[in-house]
Amino acid sequence: MDGVRRACGRVLVPVLAGVTAISLVQGAPAAVAEPEPLPRQPVATGYGGAVASLDPYASHAGLEVLRRGGNAIDAAVATSAALGVTRPYDGSIGGGGFMVIYSAKTGKVATIDGREAAPAAVKPDVFIDPATGQAIPFAERRVSGLSIGVPGVVSTWQRALSRHGRMPLHNVLKPATDLARDGFVVDAEYQRRTEQNLDILRDFTSSRDTFLVDGQAPREGTVFRNKELARTYEILADGGASAFYTGEIAEAIAGTVTNPPKVPSTTRNVRSGQMTVDDLKNYRALDKAPTKVDYRGAEVYGMAPPSSGGMTVGEYLNIVEGFDLKSMPRARALHHMIEASALAFGDRNAYIGDDRFVNVPVTGILSQGFADERRRLIGPSPAAKPVPAGDPWPYNGGGTPRQGVNAYSDGSTTHLTTADKWGNVVAYTFTLEQISGSGIAVPGYGFLLNNELTDFSTNPNDPANAPAGGKRPRSSMTPTVVLKDGKPLLATGSPGSAVIITSVMQVLANHLDFGMSLPEAIAAPRLSQQNAATTTAEAEMINSPEGRELASLGHQFSTSSTLGNMTGVAFLPDGRLQAAAEPVRLGGGSAVVLRPAE
Ligand code: GLU
Repeated sequence: MDGVRRACGRVLVPVLAGVTAISLVQGAPAAVAEPEPLPRQPVATGYGGAVASLDPYASHAGLEVLRRGGNAIDAAVATSAALGVTRPYDGSIGGGGFMVIYSAKTGKVATIDGREAAPAAVKPDVFIDPATGQAIPFAERRVSGLSIGVPGVVSTWQRALSRHGRMPLHNVLKPATDLARDGFVVDAEYQRRTEQNLDILRDFTSSRDTFLVDGQAPREGTVFRNKELARTYEILADGGASAFYTGEIAEAIAGTVTNPPKVPSTTRNVRSGQMTVDDLKNYRALDKAPTKVDYRGAEVYGMAPPSSGGMTVGEYLNIVEGFDLKSMPRARALHHMIEASALAFGDRNAYIGDDRFVNVPVTGILSQGFADERRRLIGPSPAAKPVPAGDPWPYNGGGTPRQGVNAYSDGSTTHLTTADKWGNVVAYTFTLEQISGSGIAVPGYGFLLNNELTDFSTNPNDPANAPAGGKRPRSSMTPTVVLKDGKPLLATGSPGSAVIITSVMQVLANHLDFGMSLPEAIAAPRLSQQNAATTTAEAEMINSPEGRELASLGHQFSTSSTLGNMTGVAFLPDGRLQAAAEPVRLGGGSAVVLRPAE
């Protein structure tokens, strides 16, 4: 039949927006309603609940759960499960992440560390090639069993739902299961992301069979189904998290890591990892106390180590709070923000790692006294970068100062934000690390495994972030919830590796200092200073009057087409919720509310 292509249980049917087509599924002719593309919308305002994510199908999955009586936590899990279908290269059950939850019932912010953990057998020199004594090149570390950490997403879902949800996992997974089974219309971004990693996906039988069609990326406008993932979600719906961490799925994950399913023809050197079924059985997402700083009368809550997000944003806010940013000319305010960001990154790189393995001076770095010290280093011209780390130990009961290096940082991730009519809020960022992670899918289960362990330093002696068995690598993910007088004001976050941190910094300043609405704060041009000689910036920022003034002050810029890809929810003074996503970056995101009231 013209226009219908099949591959491994998936059927691809070119469709036009709004047209219902007839498709053939598994050989039996049947009239089925074809999935249609869903519109994207960057802002939605109203009542009853809100979801903002990078993908319209995912936002609607969350909305569906809210409609059926679920709360923000249920909606967050539903949305993330759907993102695993329609954005499988950015985050899925093969990866990990961090969830920040404001519970209206307790009036408190809770966080869950669902970061991937290194298998127990991992040693500090895991990324040193024994043949050369040198670090294994990044591309080879990434596409290997060595880089794969024990996934944390399913344990995070279970913990969040059991503590804070209203619905069982079974119900919450239903929209995503339907989406995986019935399909969705591929958009340009999906096709582009597949194409970016085509050479890797083609090199593994599992990845090729699950994600490619005749060895090619699914084309924009066609319908894509992932029946393997639908079946995996059904297994989880029946068996809960233990069906992921024990039994057939756990065995398949460990088998994939120890024996990556390469196609026979590839010449790629794919190193094996050492994950066992016990590593999976022993994995737990962890409750963590949030980071908290007060800023301009608001309370900013974030993610503690092993994420560096909450601490780096917190230190930065404590530094810039001493400047009257809103009364300054914008270029002058940005100068102070850039310098504060460099100082906070200097401390991040030296001190932050998994606090179950290294002594992290959380209290010292977040103390006002330390921030005051760091602020005194900011002058009218840019400092030479990298700036050295400071000494937060006097504010933390004593310790030995350290210096760190700006470790490798790149990748892709996804962030979603949900809120409900009870006042619960969730900011959830999760990832596979690179776009498509390790590129290695678990055969028969429909999802890719992460390469999160490349977020460790390759240096076995790195003071904060060297690899170790059971350790979780340092992250930049920065899911953030802001309260005012104890009530939610906004929640936000982003993908983009270390750019995540600087994106959150700017959205907070845009909203809390410069008075922009959350949608305006997200849409505004961004820059990113990570304690490097140059500040990365979007062209619109570089070419703006303030960008030119910053250059004349001595700031050096390098251009990036896109910095971050944010979503958020704001609580408006009149009681309405405002969901916000990117209007333009990477094709734009999807903001929805249950009962629109513009
Ligand atoms: N692996 C990165 C981190 O945890 C996230 C990758 C990205 O967002 O691009 O910081």
